[in-house]
Amino acid sequence: IEMNLHKSEKAKIVSELAAAVSHEIRNPLTVTKGFLQIVTRQPLPEITLEHLRMAQEELIHAENVINDYLTFAKPALDNPTSLHVALEMNKIVKFITPYANMQSVQLNLSYDKELIVTGEPQKFHQCISNLLKNAIEAMPNGGKIDIKMAQADSKMMLIITDTGIGMTPNELQRLGEPYFSTKEKGTGLGMMVVFGIIRSMGGRIHATSEKGKGTTFTIELPLENQQKKNIP
Ligand code: ADP
Ligand code: MG
Repeated sequence: IEMNLHKSEKAKIVSELAAAVSHEIRNPLTVTKGFLQIVTRQPLPEITLEHLRMAQEELIHAENVINDYLTFAKPALDNPTSLHVALEMNKIVKFITPYANMQSVQLNLSYDKELIVTGEPQKFHQCISNLLKNAIEAMPNGGKIDIKMAQADSKMMLIITDTGIGMTPNELQRLGEPYFSTKEKGTGLGMMVVFGIIRSMGGRIHATSEKGKGTTFTIELPLENQQKKNIP
């Protein structure tokens, strides 16, 4: 069946669906997880407990997919605005700090001036929090994440360095491939989303990594055109 929908209409349907999934599915997942937790505290045959644990793991996986893919999905996704990057980064760091603390990871954010790029705040949040989550997950015994922002010509450079487990050249090459994950409960969707968002903002992303030493992501985003804004 040929659907006579414009691209923008399709995009709108997809983003509304994304928002619905993220908001409406998260609740039942949380409630079901809670009930399973209560039930597993009862004395039960080992085989039943095993089945309940498997059900719990599947729920965690579903939750991870939502987190990597749809956390910040909002109905109005096609509405890029001026993004004050330092301001946004501060919000994202605040949001992710409890997760970092759980793993004894220290976050350092540094910049010398406010830079402005064009993009959708929700997508930018999704992108950066996916990168920071991966960095935290790469440091099971603690470590540190440095986030630096600087201007280079008409571009903003955002550099995220972690002291984590790093990647092999092969892993580095497969980064962003859908469903590529080295984690037991990984989704392999996080980096695919990151690459897609940076591309949609007209930027570039590059990673270097050394096994056992750490990883650096360098993101290049075009600065918002200042001339346009100076028109009275
Ligand atoms: P997931 O986190 O669910 O595994 P992602 O798409 O977010 O999926 O990441 C894919 C894979 O890339 C990870 O499983 C991991 O092997 C690798 N990776 C991403 N970021 C880092 C990092 N900062 N340090 C080490 N490995 C990383
Ligand atoms: Mg991830």
